[in-house]
Amino acid sequence: MIKVEIDPHSGFCPGVIRAISSAEDYLCSHERLYSLGDIVHNGSELERLGALGLVPLDEDDLEEMSSAAGETVLIRAHGQPPRVYERLRDLGFNIIDCTCPVVLNIQKSIAAADAQVLIFGKKGHPEVLGLLGQNPRAVVFESLEELQTLLPGLEEAPEVFSQTTMSPVDYASACSMIRDARPRAVLHETICAQVRSRHSQLQEFARSHDVVVFVAGRNSSNGRVLSGICRQANIRTVHVKDETEIDPAFFRADDTVGVCGATSTPRWLLEKVAAHIENLQ
Ligand code: SF4
Repeated sequence: MIKVEIDPHSGFCPGVIRAISSAEDYLCSHERLYSLGDIVHNGSELERLGALGLVPLDEDDLEEMSSAAGETVLIRAHGQPPRVYERLRDLGFNIIDCTCPVVLNIQKSIAAADAQVLIFGKKGHPEVLGLLGQNPRAVVFESLEELQTLLPGLEEAPEVFSQTTMSPVDYASACSMIRDARPRAVLHETICAQVRSRHSQLQEFARSHDVVVFVAGRNSSNGRVLSGICRQANIRTVHVKDETEIDPAFFRADDTVGVCGATSTPRWLLEKVAAHIENLQ
């Protein structure tokens, strides 16, 4: 008989919980709240919030608007660059700023940096765009290979940061390469503590089950990193967005199945996936 266990440490991170709670609170007494970009990288949770009145907007929508007086927009946990705040204020939006305090601190440090700024992160990721927008001297690299090509052009004492959800192991390797090339580089520890502790917990969880079902939206950067960690620890790891992607052929009789997810995966979805697997028997 298959035994299913949900990872006790999986579920939303504090930054996402704060943004969702703010949206829910506002929508208790208002019909509509705009969100600039998806408040969470999870389609099922977006559907639930959409039913409450959360309306996603993107930057192209802002360009097409002439006025939003009286409307309210939520800035999600990833944050935004200063130019976006200016555009929102010009349009007349009220702003509920849910930039995660961890991200906000990094933004402030980058804005204050009086040196070349290197950011280890995914190009085009919203958090990275928000960080890049803080300082015109900031550049992003997303792999050690790319960093290698940047090393010859580095200043003597660049300041180095990472997107909060990057792999701590990869960031440590990047910092070591930069320190070897530029001993005066200032290396900032900016991987989210929540994400850092998740890596070792998740490895342990993945090793202690026969099969791992990792639940996260495909557009979750954190989801890709964490599902990769599960797969390294346990080759029988499958990444699904929800219970509809579960293939009964994944499982053998008597398997122990661990269900876990990213910082953007709601607890209720993990429970739904776990119940679906239990009902396959
Ligand atoms: S992963 Fe960490 S830094 Fe990012 S939103 Fe969540 S709590 Fe904030």
